[in-house]
Amino acid sequence: MGVCNVKILSKVKLMPKYTPVIGMEVHVELKTKSKMFCACKNGMANGNGEEKEPNVNICPVCTGQPGTLPVPNMEAIKFVQMVGLALGCELRLESKFDRKNYFYPDLPKGYQISQYDQPFCEKGFLNIAASDKQQAVSKKIGITRIHLEEDTGKLVHPKGVDYTLVDFNRACVPLMELVTEPDIESGEEARLFCQKLQQICRYLGISDADMEKGHMRCEANISLYKEWEDKLSGTKVEVKNINSFKFVEKAIAYEIERQTEVLEKGDRVVQETRGYDSNRGITVSQRVKESAHDYRYFPEPDIPPFKFTEEYVSALRGELPELPARKEERFASEYGLPKGDIEVLTSERDLAQYYEEVVSEIREKIQSGEVVSSEDKVIKLAANYIISELRRHLGNDEKNIRDIKITAENFAEFIGILGDGKINSSAAQIVLCEMYKTGGDPSQIIEERNLAQMNDTGELEKIIDDVLAKNQKSIDDYKAGKDNALKFLMGQVMAATKGAANPQVVQEILKNKLV
Ligand SMILES: [Zn+2]
Repeated sequence: MGVCNVKILSKVKLMPKYTPVIGMEVHVELKTKSKMFCACKNGMANGNGEEKEPNVNICPVCTGQPGTLPVPNMEAIKFVQMVGLALGCELRLESKFDRKNYFYPDLPKGYQISQYDQPFCEKGFLNIAASDKQQAVSKKIGITRIHLEEDTGKLVHPKGVDYTLVDFNRACVPLMELVTEPDIESGEEARLFCQKLQQICRYLGISDADMEKGHMRCEANISLYKEWEDKLSGTKVEVKNINSFKFVEKAIAYEIERQTEVLEKGDRVVQETRGYDSNRGITVSQRVKESAHDYRYFPEPDIPPFKFTEEYVSALRGELPELPARKEERFASEYGLPKGDIEVLTSERDLAQYYEEVVSEIREKIQSGEVVSSEDKVIKLAANYIISELRRHLGNDEKNIRDIKITAENFAEFIGILGDGKINSSAAQIVLCEMYKTGGDPSQIIEERNLAQMNDTGELEKIIDDVLAKNQKSIDDYKAGKDNALKFLMGQVMAATKGAANPQVVQEILKNKLV
């Protein structure tokens, strides 16, 4: 037995357990009115992304004509600094732009104006929900730096011809680059990080950060290490071409699996850049990674360095809106909603605002006596109807809460009517659908369509007596102990009232009559 144990132990020791180390590089196009270093319109600003027509938003500066000079866009700098403050970064009081030199046909100047050793923001963090289900707490992902640069143009490869076209609309659009510490350990954590970052960018109104539209581009640096090795001893592989949150998770999971297989075979991982092929669900080698000094960075001679004051930074901090984490805490204490509901309602700033406007209207209606239900009940009802029904309508039409025709006042009125039992839930669906389509007033819709719940017991009793008179067999069945008979009779009454009867009242009257 002893010998056997020793053998097992040695086998365990020889089986290396690999831990992934992942750092993210995220580029976000900023939606400033104009481009980064010229007065051209930034196509991102219209919300839908780029211009369809190529080379319309261009000028001598952003096409790199000799003799032109860049003028930095201060709004873009402010946007990056706002992200920095939202992510707990230190803002540098001294900063500058640098030239990153490389040749590529989509880069008209032959260099990109970027930032090397003095980025606008450094040393921040972002908390994400921990993917380790054992820990209910969040996980802190360190942020190394956030800097600002200009985007490149776009190459277009028409099918069946032997040339390539270039579109400079995107050239010189302000581009934020955020680099994380190697704190991420799975594809899921990387996805959660990118989703949180998108949410913050949208809250700040600095970008739509839509991955499918290329506003937000994520790259992951992935390496593996064995438990007894140094965390950063593995060979880094960079994975690019990831254009959705789902693919962030899948690409990284695939790459971890691939590197594990390579290492388990006793081979070495090659330092390279790989692209994610979403059709095949795999990463494919693109090129061997060049190191940083290949770019021959040097200070941009055409833009003087920046100096910011502490006063400027604190004023900017004061301009920040309430951010998602703080809003979530406040929603929990102020409205007592379940965690899942809060996550949905605060997922978008506009949705959270709509809910709060509805609640404020409801509170007024309760105070004035227009609504008699308890506040607690109706604010939860409002949350439920916004989360399930309203979002379903919006989702079907691929619309945003900003496009909604229902005013917060009308929505609050609708919730009050429903909460007070003046309409039943099936009538509520009809009313809400009509309100969604026309933006109409709920009371008017209920009146026009005769949807008010029948609470008048005298009138109901007459209808019930009529139904009972026609259904002697069901009465006998019920008395013989068949509960389904009661359901059938209720259905008949509801049909006779065209769904307007209050089901609880119907059930009560029926039971009384059937004893
Ligand atoms: Zn321009």
